[in-house]
Amino acid sequence: MLIGWENAALGGVLGLLIGSFLNVVIHRLPKIMEQQWADECRHHAEEQALATGQVPAAAAAAARISLSAPRSRCPHCGHAIRWHENIPVVSYLALRGQCAGCKARISARYPLVELATAALFAFCLGHWGLSPTGLAWCGFSAALLALALIDWDTTLLPDDITLPLLWAGLLAAALRWTDVPLADAVWGAAAGYLSLWLVFWGFKLATGKDGMGYGDFKLFAALGAWFGWQALVPIILAASVIGAIIGLIMKFRSQLREGGYIPFGPFLAGAGFAALLFGPQRMLERFLGLLGL
Ligand SMILES: [Zn+2]
Repeated sequence: MLIGWENAALGGVLGLLIGSFLNVVIHRLPKIMEQQWADECRHHAEEQALATGQVPAAAAAAARISLSAPRSRCPHCGHAIRWHENIPVVSYLALRGQCAGCKARISARYPLVELATAALFAFCLGHWGLSPTGLAWCGFSAALLALALIDWDTTLLPDDITLPLLWAGLLAAALRWTDVPLADAVWGAAAGYLSLWLVFWGFKLATGKDGMGYGDFKLFAALGAWFGWQALVPIILAASVIGAIIGLIMKFRSQLREGGYIPFGPFLAGAGFAALLFGPQRMLERFLGLLGL
């Protein structure tokens, strides 16, 4: 594999910056979604009240959050984070992982997300150069990382990320930015969605439980768009193997949450990363090779 080191370095720096933004997305997007749901519920309740001739209750004014506002603050003491405390990885090390205001620990996840994004971008630009293809795979990586962590935290896969990721995969194929023929990408998206939809309903009819969420179908469809239908079976196998291993480790260490529910999205995303790094056909061979099988 040929790596262009200048492009890889550029990707690393770009990845640190985008990773810093991804931390904000991972933290705030679920809260913004809750805010939207609350708005919709209130709107519906108001319409119901008006229809029955009642005066709707006044809505409480709540502080609105968005990706850009308000400024980031320490969740413990409210200390507003200054620009020089917000430099990816560097600030975390300079602050020794503590808030400058109250010395509360800052989660190591922030610099780890920045480093992971930097590594992925370095791989993509090092491999494909500073080209539409390289940048497209950077965007793919960033979206996948955000989805994996949001799903892990909240068991939600936001449509605001899964659907653009799906469309971007189809567009990238149409523009020949990926080397997947457009027809393979379209069939990948359709088969990805339908296959998990069928598994979902089969499981639901058999057990009466929801085994996964609609977000999983959309994410699998997006992976089908980016890698083509041929990659779907290797990806679902890899995701299941990763999920089973992590699930067993968590069970063994009694870290399962109540109900034992583990979101599937992070493992689909993990398989997506494996497909990106090793190629969708070869990842399974390499993975089984690692296990000595
Ligand atoms: Zn603080």
